[in-house]
Amino acid sequence: MSGLLLGGRELAAAIRVETAERAAALTAAGTPPRLTVVVATDDEASAWYVRSIGTAAAKIGITCDVIELGGDADVATIRATLTRLSADDLVHGIILQTPLPAGATLEDLGGAIAVEKDVDGANPLSLGRLAAGLPAYPPATAAAVLALLDHHGVELAGRRAAVIGRSTVVGKPVAHLLLDRHATVTVCHSRTPDLAAVTATADILVAAAGRPGLVTAEHVKRGGVVVDVGTNPTPDGGLVGDADADSVAERAAGLTPVPGGVGPVTTALLLNHTVRAAAGRL
Ligand code: NAP
Repeated sequence: MSGLLLGGRELAAAIRVETAERAAALTAAGTPPRLTVVVATDDEASAWYVRSIGTAAAKIGITCDVIELGGDADVATIRATLTRLSADDLVHGIILQTPLPAGATLEDLGGAIAVEKDVDGANPLSLGRLAAGLPAYPPATAAAVLALLDHHGVELAGRRAAVIGRSTVVGKPVAHLLLDRHATVTVCHSRTPDLAAVTATADILVAAAGRPGLVTAEHVKRGGVVVDVGTNPTPDGGLVGDADADSVAERAAGLTPVPGGVGPVTTALLLNHTVRAAAGRL
């Protein structure tokens, strides 16, 4: 590691270069990679995120289609759309954007995305395969956590890791990926008593609670590394993580910044997964 801040922009750029090379080779060979994002929300932040994926995909040479179903789409329509795309040979990656309409869940609808096209790990089968050590695409955010740790040379095997958060999108897949790399993993959540006592024993702390300022110096082992997955909007239009960076800096040897840490790597890996899917390399 070189310094406290473990940024993600350099790594994201390297992933994009490699992904663009693979996309060009696939296109030349007659398989132009194609990603489809299914949107069933009128949420502004979500619309911004989908546009940013489209822009990043275009720069890399991936076609990105967006299917707008509207915020009042019913579950049957969303499921039928995902089923149709899963059977379409010209589509290699499928993302179901969140939030979803009331009554719809990612865990339920994600099951309609073919595992080999599930580039953001939304199908519960993908999580199950991950847990069983079988090939699957992890959610891009979870994959980004591991990619950042590797990029900054953080040793995982035999070390203690704590994950704050147990969602199927971040906490659980991150825990499985860390376990797979031989870390000893503790998963914490809102019912964990004395959170700091647990997390302060961890060499690697992954914060994915969505609670600004939750992680302070007392939560961190001296010399530990903190990966901040939290993305919490501020009233002035900015973004902060779950870690109080100034406080955490008193003890941590490394901290991923927000913005500029997990976020850019997540988008780059989403597109990387799409190119892998187009190459049939789950
Ligand atoms: P989520 O579904 O709301 O899950 C949050 C988890 O944190 C839950 O397991 C919850 O526990 C736990 N938690 C909440 N408050 C806690 C507390 N005070 N102490 C301990 N645990 C607590 O959120 P998510 O979808 O996993 O996302 C988590 C964060 O990551 C959010 O800020 C989200 O915006 C961000 N995110 C970032 C990216 C990216 O690309 N950078 C991508 C996805 C998500 P319970 O299970 O007990 O409720």
